[in-house]
Amino acid sequence: MTKAWLAELGRLALILLAAAILGGIAGQLVWMLLAGLLFALCFHLYQLYRVHHWILHVEDRGNPPDAMGVWGELVDSLYRFGKRHRKRKERLASLLERFNEFTSAMPDATVVIGPNNEIRWLNEAATDLFGLRNPQDIGQRLSNLIRHPDFISYLAGGDYHEPIEITSPVRDDVRLSLRIVPFGNHERLLAARDISHLYRLEQMRRDFVANVSHELRTPLTVLMGYLETFEDMEDEFPSPLKRSLSHMQGQATRMQGIIEDLLMLSRLDGEGPMASEQSAVAIPGLVSALREDAEALSGTAGHRISAEIDEMLWLRGDAKELHSAFANLVSNAVRYTPMGGEIALRWVRDGAGASFEVRDTGIGIDPEHIPRLTERFYRVNKDRSRDTGGTGLGLAIVKHVLQRHGAKLVIRSRPGEGSAFVCLFPSARVVHKVRESHIA
Ligand code: ADP
Repeated sequence: MTKAWLAELGRLALILLAAAILGGIAGQLVWMLLAGLLFALCFHLYQLYRVHHWILHVEDRGNPPDAMGVWGELVDSLYRFGKRHRKRKERLASLLERFNEFTSAMPDATVVIGPNNEIRWLNEAATDLFGLRNPQDIGQRLSNLIRHPDFISYLAGGDYHEPIEITSPVRDDVRLSLRIVPFGNHERLLAARDISHLYRLEQMRRDFVANVSHELRTPLTVLMGYLETFEDMEDEFPSPLKRSLSHMQGQATRMQGIIEDLLMLSRLDGEGPMASEQSAVAIPGLVSALREDAEALSGTAGHRISAEIDEMLWLRGDAKELHSAFANLVSNAVRYTPMGGEIALRWVRDGAGASFEVRDTGIGIDPEHIPRLTERFYRVNKDRSRDTGGTGLGLAIVKHVLQRHGAKLVIRSRPGEGSAFVCLFPSARVVHKVRESHIA
């Protein structure tokens, strides 16, 4: 019990004592005691009224009213609490103001989305880059306002690990990189950055490579034509010239390979991010044709080549691209497997998806190189790649084609033991045609 309470109780006891003495003298003990209690009650009611009045007019109140006893202590506590609360409110208001200034100054668009894709908050850049209006669009579904198909499937897909790129819905010249970050209670933050500058640079680089490759193709075709004419007259040339001629032909063919691969890559770059799902490609036929190509490529090297093909599996995608990717893997297996080695092609189901695997018993790859193999012009051994007619672009094409089909490339390899290149396709791309599979 606090001091104020003790004093309060003492005061009540004094009033009652005084009333009892007066009552005793006047011979009206009960009435005087009642009068004393009434006095105490009135006193407390009055104090309560003052405190209540002070609390009701809390906004314009100045100092707290002078109150006695427990009331005084209560008023002091309320006053201190109110003061602390006011200070905290001021601090929060200034923090909020600074936050608003900061988000307005931010060049990146930021939108907070609720569980039903409804907009909860947005900054000024979101108005500029997405055309969203504040406050009119608050509460609207974001998918009704940004209708780009890539964005809609990104938002619905729930896999926000990678950002996506779209053109701004309100400014054709602005390219945006979007990323969604989940946070809090089923909320998500959409952050968009203007990457037009980078995009234009990338476009210039792609156009440059495509143009250079294209421009080189014609003179090279002319040179190769002359080389073929010389080849027909080879018997008339002295031996050193014959050797040079064959060397020149080898180099020209290699150059042609590089140009064709570069053109393929820039074609892939120029297409949309995903290959069309319109037509189903007969992969079983494609794989058996590749097996025959592999035998032809192997020639006298005598590789043992087998193929396990699930005849019921077809794929939705681009036939030309898939052929190019698979052919690159098969030609690598032949080129990096010494004479007499084994090469196995497998086109089979993988869970709900499908996988194309090329396994060889070739030279294998050191683990440190594996993460970089799909980079353009990355080779483990430049000389070996050149000697076998490699361009250094094969696996870059494979990676690109697989990305466009929503597939993944898994590489397993050990130096001296061989390698396995596995392309894993998602179930969404798989088409089931017939039942049987056979091992050839
Ligand atoms: P390249 O035209 O040089 O073969 P790729 O992009 O197809 O270019 O392959 C990149 C590198 O990966 C090759 O230079 C080679 O070192 C390595 N590589 C690819 N496939 C195999 C394989 N089956 N066995 C061993 N190494 C391989």
